[in-house]
Amino acid sequence: MKVLKFGGTSVGSAERMKKLLDIIDPAERQIVVLSAVSGTTNSLVEIGQAYLSGDKKKASELIKILKDKYEDLIKALYAKPQYLEQGKEVIDYHFGLLSQLANDHFTTIEDKVVLAQGELLSTTLYHVYLKEIGVTSVLLPALDFMRIDEDNEPMVDYITDHLTPLLEAHPGNKLFITQGYICRNSFGEIDNLRRGGSDYTASLIGAGIRSEEVQIWTDIDGMHNNDPRIVKGTTPIAQLSFDEAAELAYFGAKILHPQSVFPAQKYRIPVRLLNTMDPKAPGTLITNTSEKDRIKSIAAKDGITAIKIQSSRMLLAYGFLRRVFEVFERYKTSIDMITTSEVAVSLTIDDTLYLGDIIKELETFGTVDIDKNQTIICVVGDFGAEKHGYAARVLEAVKHIPLRMISYGGSENNLSLLIATYDKTEALRSLHNRLF
Ligand code: ADP
Ligand code: ASP
Ligand code: MG
Repeated sequence: MKVLKFGGTSVGSAERMKKLLDIIDPAERQIVVLSAVSGTTNSLVEIGQAYLSGDKKKASELIKILKDKYEDLIKALYAKPQYLEQGKEVIDYHFGLLSQLANDHFTTIEDKVVLAQGELLSTTLYHVYLKEIGVTSVLLPALDFMRIDEDNEPMVDYITDHLTPLLEAHPGNKLFITQGYICRNSFGEIDNLRRGGSDYTASLIGAGIRSEEVQIWTDIDGMHNNDPRIVKGTTPIAQLSFDEAAELAYFGAKILHPQSVFPAQKYRIPVRLLNTMDPKAPGTLITNTSEKDRIKSIAAKDGITAIKIQSSRMLLAYGFLRRVFEVFERYKTSIDMITTSEVAVSLTIDDTLYLGDIIKELETFGTVDIDKNQTIICVVGDFGAEKHGYAARVLEAVKHIPLRMISYGGSENNLSLLIATYDKTEALRSLHNRLF
């Protein structure tokens, strides 16, 4: 059974929703994961922020603007009055719920309820559309099987145990529709898998049901060899290994949610990145195998903070790095890049929630310097130790840019550079021109 995920632009209008059946074969048993209509989650974020700041008037205005868009969408989506009426009931219900929250004490718990409405709307409206055109489908509530634990980690076994019976309850049905992004947390509350999380949903479902293939349908023909929003002339990569795709996603390639590769990798489920606007294009296939002898792609991750700890106590000492890492562990803050010398260690984080506390503790070891507004540039390819010349080509391409850190040899497929965000565009373009 395949899992097909369609992103925000792929369900971005009535016309796009209707076109999905050019891609979905209703005769094949499959699970279709839908994102919210493009722009919706951004609007819901704003609505939640307005409520959180106590600005109910602004929340109500934003709700009205968004609702108007949906009124237009259903008029274009349904042909028969009976289905238009059903669509109207759906949006009245979800927007009624959003407005109703003005009467509650609004906390981050209610905020997550707000954020969930986008995927609930898109899937229900699409389900009604399929009914109108006579295509049988079953709407599976993601909140009944998608769950994260107390560390916000998705629970694949839970998905298997709760999704399998839902599928088995409909043995004759081919097409199942469900929501991306949304889940329940360990308290049973509505939660989500972070922005862009519908990719993660698809991969988790793929893992949970041991799917034969996960397809991520989006608005571009696969993973490109550089960020197409910044660099001209990027081209799609036909084949990537799970490790390569994970590095690119984690280090900023927006086409994939950072964690979405891992569940598929664990159960060796091939992932295809495909273009809804050009369904015949081959896209990118992500599997266990990797093409050798090539630099494949470049990605960039902003919002990085570099921390340098300098200490003479590090000299010839053992146990020093362990104590440094324990500080980050205590604050559940993950480290992306590390470089060390005999008297100093530099590392990077992107979550600065506990930065103040972390600095205080690190200062007991030595001098601590902080650089904010940094960017990790990640070059992915076949960099095995027996290869030579690749690292030199990368460094040659950025010789005019100040480098804060260089990380090489951590894995066979990655060379990372830390630079000021200010230099990012130039670094990406120069690397692109020199490497491809
Ligand atoms: P969806 O809404 O379908 O999930 P996203 O906007 O999340 O789509 O991801 C697709 C976008 O990712 C593309 O339109 C493209 O601008 C951006 N992107 C960034 N880096 C890359 C890359 N290396 N390859 C392809 N797309 C990329
Ligand atoms: N709708 C969510 C977002 O915009 C999830 C997704 O599209 O993947 O972040
Ligand atoms: Mg996305």
